[in-house]
Amino acid sequence: MHSEWAGLENAPASEILSWAIATYGGRFAISTSFQSEGMVLIDMAARISANVRVLTLDTGRLPEETYAMIETVRARYGIAVETVAPERGELDAMIKEHGPNLFYGSVPLRSLCCQIRKVRPLANKLKELDAYAVGLRRDQTQARGAQPKLELNGEAVKLSPLADWSAQQVSAYTSENNVPRHLLYAQGYSSIGCAPCTRAVAAGEDERAGRWWWEDGAQKECGLHYSPEGKAERTVDVLLRQVLEAAHA
Ligand code: SF4
Repeated sequence: MHSEWAGLENAPASEILSWAIATYGGRFAISTSFQSEGMVLIDMAARISANVRVLTLDTGRLPEETYAMIETVRARYGIAVETVAPERGELDAMIKEHGPNLFYGSVPLRSLCCQIRKVRPLANKLKELDAYAVGLRRDQTQARGAQPKLELNGEAVKLSPLADWSAQQVSAYTSENNVPRHLLYAQGYSSIGCAPCTRAVAAGEDERAGRWWWEDGAQKECGLHYSPEGKAERTVDVLLRQVLEAAHA
């Protein structure tokens, strides 16, 4: 761990955000899909600085309700959200080879879509940032169980200030501070991503059960935070290389 991070791993979320804003200024941003965790981060950060940057990955397949949240954040906090889009040539090459709804075909094809629409655009955006914050919580999935509050993603410091929060704490902060809620929660969603890959969950279902619901036993991750394991990872590497070769030929 870096020496300047000492003490921050156990610090409260607002203290971590204050440190990041003071340390990195305009080279720090919150990366969010406007789920409640991300909205808590925005609400906290807006109390610290009026100039905090917020970015979202505009995959091209987001639900209308997510675009409405971009408007809501602008109206409530005066923050102009930065949208991060896939690279046009890579998107075209992927769709030409595998079709627009490739994600229903297999886990590697779904992972390929997430790579082109999310992982690579974020990696590109991070070139202009020194640090960014995300809304991961340790109790969301088994894979997130050991999530540190500070880590390196390439050259950028990745902050998860809410890593030790529970869903109940997020809900309580949201209510107490009247933080805007994504409209899809009222329709039974417990985790929100791209429109074709996310559905509402039934009572008692796992928090991320609505993500890629057709996949049986696959890791419910898009590759932004954790990569698929084993054979799926090797296969998506091959698929990605083929798409990138076609895009940049
Ligand atoms: Fe593609 Fe679905 Fe991943 Fe969105 S969530 S990038 S549509 S596979």
